[in-house]
Amino acid sequence: MKVTDDVYALDATKGNYAYLIIGKEIVLVDTGRPGQGKGILKELESMNINPQDIKHILLTHHDVDHIGNIALLEKETGAKIWASKEDIPYIRGEKNREGIKRLVSIIMRVKKPENINSYPENQKICNIRIIPTPGHTPGHVCLIYKDVLFAGDLIRTSNGQVGPMMSFMNWNTDLSSKSIKKVDNLSFKWVCPAHGEPIERNDKW
Ligand SMILES: [Zn+2]
Repeated sequence: MKVTDDVYALDATKGNYAYLIIGKEIVLVDTGRPGQGKGILKELESMNINPQDIKHILLTHHDVDHIGNIALLEKETGAKIWASKEDIPYIRGEKNREGIKRLVSIIMRVKKPENINSYPENQKICNIRIIPTPGHTPGHVCLIYKDVLFAGDLIRTSNGQVGPMMSFMNWNTDLSSKSIKKVDNLSFKWVCPAHGEPIERNDKW
């Protein structure tokens, strides 16, 4: 689904959207939940995109429904994988998730990527700004490309409105609220969440 001229929500990941940014280089934001990888590859094919044209995969956070196909996509694309230094230990399996997320990660096993890089100091990759927004997970980030915000799980949308994530899914809801205020001060026109549909921001933040 086209959001703007160079941003697409991947229909194969509906429910926990991954997004494609088609700039000078092609960048994938998140990878959907386990089992959606083949659908992603099919969708790329239907868009006439060779998987190897994807140069970077940017992860918003460590949750299973965002890193679900990271090993497969690493292999198929050869892309460089990025995540925050706080969330990388969970992705590598060096740290255990807490509460319900621990249970989910046991039920939905995710293959680990071979290589994963932590976001650069200057917080920029391919003209995409990395905005640290801790709370949902310790190292959750939002991304801004042109006038599009990729919100990850900082918020969700439903019926055309922005709403908070359920607090039991958050690592630290107070921190998450602070991050939501921080993002409110940034300028962007489009809100692309993982859960819910992309919407125009207008006054809905
Ligand atoms: Zn999620």
